[in-house]
Amino acid sequence: MIAGVWQDPPAQRITFDEWARLFERVPTDLLDRYHYYRRDQEERDGLRPWSAYMFPPQTFAIYGCRHLMRLKYDNSLAALRLWGFVQNETERLFRARQLGRKVIATMGDLGAVPVIVNSFPGLVAFYPDCIWWMPFVMESNVLLDAAAELGIGDAACFSRAALGAFAKHAYFPDPELAIASTGVSCDDFSGVEQLAERFATEVLWVESPMRRETLNCYHCAGAKERTFDSQTEYDPGTLRFLVKEYERVLVRLERFAGYTITEQELRNGVRKANRVRRLTKLLRELAYGDGVLPAVEMMMVEFGCLHHYSDIDEWPEVLEHLLATAETRAARRERVVAEDALRVVWITPPADPLFLCYLEDQGARVVGTEYVINQSLEILDENKPPLEAVAESFMAASLTGSTRQRVASAIHQARRYDAEGVIVSGILGGSHCAMESRLIAEYIKAELDLPVLEFDVPPHGKEISRQIRTRIDAFLEMLTERR
Ligand code: SF4
Repeated sequence: MIAGVWQDPPAQRITFDEWARLFERVPTDLLDRYHYYRRDQEERDGLRPWSAYMFPPQTFAIYGCRHLMRLKYDNSLAALRLWGFVQNETERLFRARQLGRKVIATMGDLGAVPVIVNSFPGLVAFYPDCIWWMPFVMESNVLLDAAAELGIGDAACFSRAALGAFAKHAYFPDPELAIASTGVSCDDFSGVEQLAERFATEVLWVESPMRRETLNCYHCAGAKERTFDSQTEYDPGTLRFLVKEYERVLVRLERFAGYTITEQELRNGVRKANRVRRLTKLLRELAYGDGVLPAVEMMMVEFGCLHHYSDIDEWPEVLEHLLATAETRAARRERVVAEDALRVVWITPPADPLFLCYLEDQGARVVGTEYVINQSLEILDENKPPLEAVAESFMAASLTGSTRQRVASAIHQARRYDAEGVIVSGILGGSHCAMESRLIAEYIKAELDLPVLEFDVPPHGKEISRQIRTRIDAFLEMLTERR
């Protein structure tokens, strides 16, 4: 119950139409409480009506996100708030500029540089990379066609939609500064970044080093660091190199912002990012352990660790709301998926969220994930110098080291929640997926003796292709037979 005005209905996954009807019942004064960029506004002259972000779901569909009409949703107010906040991000970025903030595109590293950017007053970081699911959500080729006109066609992964978005000048403001990862970044996104360079006023290239392992290296023996849900080994020289790169980022940001940041402000930035990461960790435990939240909402929660959907102050409030809902459900043993649902670990995020809905419709649930963003889930060490803490968290990155290291986190989660199977959804055209999916499956089978289903997510459509549905159905049947 929130302030005596709202009681969530019993936990359930609902359709788009049911979601719209539920929204009509939410009192207006409750909707009016939720605003983005609240701090900037309250400090000035009170909240502005345009900064509300809770809208009827039809609004998002009419603005172009047609795929939303095919998904299923968690029926809590907290989940409605989550969807409203995420869907509102484009508007928010344009408003940021209106409020006098500087908008910075961070690209390729998925979670590290925004911790530094967001420590500066008046700077907002966002990831054009996250546009990759827009062709699916909009059921439209418009961004992919725009990317093709600029030179990146079907041979590259869906992240090329980000290039199309740069060219359209409509999905985010043209960034005054872009901070782009190079080095160990993949070929597909490296191509996107190089072609996107023309659309940013300035670009700073930052090298992400390959994570060299210490195994069999007597010089570095013992350099073993804790990482998210697993142990990842790395050569400490890699970490030192990255700290130097982040020092360059800091210098450029200070020049760009015309502001000298203090050590304390950087520490506060680390603490704020950690608040989001800790909340996400708790939500993962409740959702994947107790089945109290659906997989699609959880995918959005996990991706919120990258740049907090461009509002570092409001996003943790959304997560707190979701956590309160999840804890209430867990205490009541109220699940949003069946208690006896088949337990599956999902590796690599499906660009089309419909896949996660389909899995749950067919009687399974996600109990662990490896969405190529381990670096953004890692808890930062607040006792270390801030840049070192950020670099250390990046050492847990999913795609900068060996596949064996990447798969360790999935294996750990599969053991923890007694998974019955693993799904690896490759990205059509994704340069790492073509070679890595099979290798991941081999490691999982060797380590856990679990069945693994691999498939590529094809280009967008209104529904999942019959062939892939049949493969998922057959896989789940096989898991059922093994019980
Ligand atoms: S190929 Fe993989 S790592 Fe590269 S942009 Fe696509 S999803 Fe990201």
